[in-house]
Amino acid sequence: MTRSAFDYVDGVLHAEGVSAVSLAEQFGTPLYVYSRAALTAAWNAYAGACAGRRASVHVAVKANSNLAVLNVFARLGAGFDIVSGGELARVLAAGGKAENTVFSGVGKQAGEMRDALAAGVKCFNVESIPELDRLNAVAGEMGKKAPVSLRVNPDVDAKTHPYISTGLKSNKFGVAFEDARATYQAAAAMAHLKVVGIDCHIGSQITEVAPYLDAIDKVLELVEQIEQDGITIRHIDVGGGLGITYDDETPPEIGEFVRTVLDRIEVRGHGHREVYFEPGRSLVGNAGVLLTQVEFLKPGAEKNFAIVDAAMTDLARPAMYDAYHAIEPVVKRDVPAHVYDVVGPVCESGDWLGRERLLAVEPGDLLAIRSAGAYGFVMSSNYNTRGRAAEVMVDGTQAHVVRAREEAQQLFAGETILPA
Ligand SMILES: *Cc1c(COP(=O)(O)O)cnc(C)c1O
Repeated sequence: MTRSAFDYVDGVLHAEGVSAVSLAEQFGTPLYVYSRAALTAAWNAYAGACAGRRASVHVAVKANSNLAVLNVFARLGAGFDIVSGGELARVLAAGGKAENTVFSGVGKQAGEMRDALAAGVKCFNVESIPELDRLNAVAGEMGKKAPVSLRVNPDVDAKTHPYISTGLKSNKFGVAFEDARATYQAAAAMAHLKVVGIDCHIGSQITEVAPYLDAIDKVLELVEQIEQDGITIRHIDVGGGLGITYDDETPPEIGEFVRTVLDRIEVRGHGHREVYFEPGRSLVGNAGVLLTQVEFLKPGAEKNFAIVDAAMTDLARPAMYDAYHAIEPVVKRDVPAHVYDVVGPVCESGDWLGRERLLAVEPGDLLAIRSAGAYGFVMSSNYNTRGRAAEVMVDGTQAHVVRAREEAQQLFAGETILPA
């Protein structure tokens, strides 16, 4: 029987074949630990379901942009979805190819457009007419034609699908559905743009397939209208957003999700178009944990606190989105369990990682914060002049440091004081 990438062996949490205790001893805490096998398995679930279909997968870099993580995907033949010039630089440094990279984001700067055009990205996912104008101007200066798709906002009803957060009229994202046809005509008329596709991304941590199907139906209707206007749409980008299990969520399995989406597009008579997926969280979220050590247990009148060495600066999701992450002792211990709020050392009441968790722990014990591979390290900060955590990737029985822990001197190396 195969066990998941992070599991207990004789009461001790392991990452693949390596004990989390030995990882913490060797590399210190807080420590991000990724599993190459888990990254590979998630990629294979997407790639397997796309095999033999007109479909390709672009890894959303913003979910976890560590070079080693990107390189694992690049070696597997992945494409990438970027949202900044910095992410393009990372993709190229990690062995990814510009021609397999799509450039998303609502506020692309001219310099970022220039670099992406020079590198030869596959497509710009454009979100407004002013952005089309800017891209057209940049491409014109460079004597190039920029491949574009418009991100349309399908305004999927949030009442029926409460997990959606970016596909609504009230969001900053995308071209409003009613304006999309005219915006395509504007794009097609620009001399230095070439319309190649259409794009939508309706939100994140979506645990049902129904909202995707609603969005796809609306997008396909639009594609038919756009083609009546004489504009060819080669690809349909359905975005990312597939959810994972943090607690008791039951999202569709990756392969089932991909097949359901592809089947819908085919049944609706659009099977000749290429379909792009842009997953982030569902590729990396459950391929990482954050290890932290209990510094103090602090009993209180109303609450007990477990003060740990990780903080909101390492994992912002609880403070930022009220997000839940499972927290478990690395070593199962026979000590009395109490209910704790797991909090960090940062001077903010918002600095918490888990609330009201029943934990059998003592000071000095290690805890594992689960499902920390997506929007974990990438959202970390240096607030309180805390160096960011080290990142390690486990590959079988080997552990590799893929980002060194930051030291205090590095944090103010770019600062200067006024002359005397
Ligand atoms: C964030 C983002 C993604 C990835 O979303 P996940 O929820 O991590 O899968 C994909 N596409 C775009 C345009 C995004 O902004």
